[in-house]
Amino acid sequence: MSGKITFTMIKPDAVADGHIGAILRKISEAGFKIKALKLTQLTVADAKKFYEVHAERPFYGELVDFMSSGPIVAAVLEKDNAVEDFRTVIGATNPAEAAEGTIRKMFARSIGENAVHGSDSDENALIEAQFHFSGREIF
Ligand code: ATP
Ligand code: MG
Repeated sequence: MSGKITFTMIKPDAVADGHIGAILRKISEAGFKIKALKLTQLTVADAKKFYEVHAERPFYGELVDFMSSGPIVAAVLEKDNAVEDFRTVIGATNPAEAAEGTIRKMFARSIGENAVHGSDSDENALIEAQFHFSGREIF
């Protein structure tokens, strides 16, 4: 699967704002195949672990609180060049800087509550997919 998969979460803001359907549609239209999908919620401990690389950043506490504040949709997506292409589809971290037509431009509330997550490397895509899904949940 290496090089072909990425992991995404539709974050609590976009779930609460009713954008699950619109975001999954954009993902499908961009040519990604859904390999795993579920509505779930991160515990505080899960969110701390998932965003461990940002532990020293000033926004870490806020990020952990936000990511554990409500349900998310977790998904594994497949496409050639999945990691890079998905980051193009979601747009810049700050929706104010995201390109027109990107998911964050269309649906994010702010830099912190920015609608979606996308893996930043093939290695992390696999780690993140396995964090959320067992082998029998990935098709
Ligand atoms: P993600 O990893 O969620 O896909 P990203 O790779 O675009 O986002 P990162 O630098 O990995 O951005 O930051 C992780 C998350 O931390 C961001 O998506 C955002 O929710 C939050 N974040 C990043 N920078 C800030 C900031 N300056 N203020 C508040 N929250 C921030
Ligand atoms: Mg990131």
